[in-house]
Amino acid sequence: MKRTLVIVGASYAGVQLAASARELGFDGRIVLLGDEPDAPYQRPPLSKGFLTGSVAEARLPLRSQVFFDEEKIEWMPSTRAIRIDRERREIGLHDGSRIAYDHVALTTGARVRKLDCPGAALDAVHYLRDLRDARRLAQTACTARRAVVIGGGYIGLEAAASLRQQGVDVTVVETEPRLLARVASPWISDFMLRAHVERGVAFECGRKVVALHDAYGIVSVELDNGTRLLCDLVVVGIGVIPNTELAADCGLHVQGGITVDACARTSDPRIVAAGDCASFVPHWALPDARACRIESVQNANDMAKTAAASILGRSEPYRAVPWFWSDQYDLKLQMAGVNTGFNDYAVRGSVEERKCSLFYFRGKTLIAVDSINRPQDHMLARKLLASGAHVLADEVRDPAFDLKSLASGDMHAARGAV
Ligand code: ADP
Repeated sequence: MKRTLVIVGASYAGVQLAASARELGFDGRIVLLGDEPDAPYQRPPLSKGFLTGSVAEARLPLRSQVFFDEEKIEWMPSTRAIRIDRERREIGLHDGSRIAYDHVALTTGARVRKLDCPGAALDAVHYLRDLRDARRLAQTACTARRAVVIGGGYIGLEAAASLRQQGVDVTVVETEPRLLARVASPWISDFMLRAHVERGVAFECGRKVVALHDAYGIVSVELDNGTRLLCDLVVVGIGVIPNTELAADCGLHVQGGITVDACARTSDPRIVAAGDCASFVPHWALPDARACRIESVQNANDMAKTAAASILGRSEPYRAVPWFWSDQYDLKLQMAGVNTGFNDYAVRGSVEERKCSLFYFRGKTLIAVDSINRPQDHMLARKLLASGAHVLADEVRDPAFDLKSLASGDMHAARGAV
């Protein structure tokens, strides 16, 4: 009897997991359940090119139907798994039907955190997570004149940039005193703040939204200092909540995410989890660090490969270097590694020309690199971080220092040693 793998969630992690399982030789049935009606699609453009109109919807699908057919991956759209019966090894679907499984992969992702204040349900309020959100927002943005963006994380700032590029007046409201506080260094926060201010975006940092009002079609966002920001469009990007209910309801360990080990295995040997929904202690974490979730395309893809290998009985710990990117205006930001606990940094390139990279060190160890319009540095950084190559802050600052040779493992060429 051939085995059945049921993958719950058809976004990056789910699609990659199906592809990797086939690549690794899984010859049983693969069922890919997705609760959205649309074919699995790329999400990063939704707050960037899709919103500005430079990326057409036809370019969004992650894989073609031909791919699913050829690989015999049974993608089921608009299908929601509502229950996992681990004793019977069955998944219950929203329409009352059931699918028997040998393996389950939970790639359920995350949903947006909703604003919780009076007026939060007004029509003018938009979120940006799935294609339906993005279509609705793109349509409204065409005629909007003034927007308030709530949340100064990457989603909020990308939305602000996209709207500003379309001539919309934008104010960003952020509760923390600085932008991107959860994910970026103060240097990057400051750089991005200036980039937006120079392009005419206004900021209210350290402020809370207390209510949204709609007075005869005129919308306003009320802040905790009494300020009222008039607008015709509100975009909310205040983070996400992992979709863990399915896992928790069937008794899997869940704590801030579906708990998995370094090989993406949950507390049930038949069930793996990967992507935004999964919580684990990453290989780069500081000693005693708690498990965490990583919200990125890279993590979804790489962790899915690890999870697929575990299903095939070829578990190997997940050790990929984390990386991420964000496009805002003409700025291409690329992050490699995680800078938690850095105590020194060095800048390479020119800040004035907006072509520079920040190399973060913990002690003498390079732990992360943020690049702005320096894609080559980003690629080298990923290699350096993967190999654990030793580099000094002074070497990084020296434009003549040959990072490329160092990244390819040629220390002598890099340092001009004989
Ligand atoms: P996202 O992926 O949506 O950008 P992040 O968690 O990276 O998620 O960023 C969300 C940002 O929103 C954070 O900087 C956080 O401080 C901010 N934030 C959270 N709640 C509010 C709120 N009610 N009003 C304004 N900003 C908020």
